[in-house]
Amino acid sequence: MKNKSIILGALFVLLGVSTANAQINFGEKALGAVQKGVAGFTFSDADAASLSKAAVDKMDAEHVITGAKDPYTLRLNKLFGKHKTTEGVALNYKVYKLNEVNAFATADGSVRVYSGLMDIMDDNELLAVIGHEIGHVVNTDSRDAIKAAYKKEAALGLLASQSDKVAAITDSQLAKVGSQMIDSKHSRKQESEADEFSYNFMKNNSYNVNAVSSAFAILAKMSEGAESSFLEKMMSSHPDPKERAENAKLRAEKDGLYKPYVKQKPVVAKKAPVKKKK
Ligand SMILES: [Zn+2]
Repeated sequence: MKNKSIILGALFVLLGVSTANAQINFGEKALGAVQKGVAGFTFSDADAASLSKAAVDKMDAEHVITGAKDPYTLRLNKLFGKHKTTEGVALNYKVYKLNEVNAFATADGSVRVYSGLMDIMDDNELLAVIGHEIGHVVNTDSRDAIKAAYKKEAALGLLASQSDKVAAITDSQLAKVGSQMIDSKHSRKQESEADEFSYNFMKNNSYNVNAVSSAFAILAKMSEGAESSFLEKMMSSHPDPKERAENAKLRAEKDGLYKPYVKQKPVVAKKAPVKKKK
C-alpha cells in the first residue's frame, strides 16, 4: 500500500495535479470529509491533505492574517506569487501578523509565514526559507508529519480510526493534531533534502543562492539559547547548525556562484515618497 501511495503521489506530480488540489475545494466541509476519510482502515494522502487543510483553517481563524493591502501581504505576494505552483504542487500562502520567527508548510500546500520572520530577513533570505518549506511539501515530509500526528492520536485511542465507525474528531483534537503537525521535527535527512531543495529553488529561479547560507546563519545564531519551536525544528536535528549554512556556501562555491552575501536594505517596504511624473 505504501508503495502504491508513493507511485500515485509521483503520478500526480507528473501530471501537474497535486492531491492537495482536490482537497482544497472541500472548503468548510473539510472536517466532515476528514471524519469520513479516516473512518476506514487506511489514512490516505487525500486524508492527510484534508486533515491538514482543516487544521490550517483552524489556525488561520486563530491568527491575525494581514490584509490585502498590508505591506507584509504585498511583499509576500511579490515573492511567493510566482511560485504558487512548484513542481506541480499547488501552494497557497498567508502572513500571520505576529512577532515570532516562524514559518510552516502543511500537506495541503499551505505555507504560513509570520511577520516576525519577515522582519529579520531580506527578500532573498525569505525566499530561501520559503524554498525550504516548499521543499518539505514537495518531498512529502509535511504529509508524513500529519500522518504521524494523526497516528499518535489514534494510538492513544483518542480517535476511532481502527473501527469502521466514523472517527469523531472534536475541535480540540483537531487543534492537537494541528499543533503536533506544526511542531513535529523532521529527520536530519529530510532537513538536508529541504535545504538542498531550497538551494536548487534559488538557483533555478536565478535568485542569489548565497542568501541560503545567510538565512541559515541568521537562524542558527538566533537558535543559540532561544526557545522557539520553529528554530528548534529548523536547527536541532543537526549537531552543528552552522554546518547547514556552510553546506549551502560550499555548493555555491562549487557552482561558481559564491559571493559574500550583502544583505539587502529595505526589509519591509516603507511607503516611498510619491514622485510626480512630468
Ligand atoms: Zn525544515
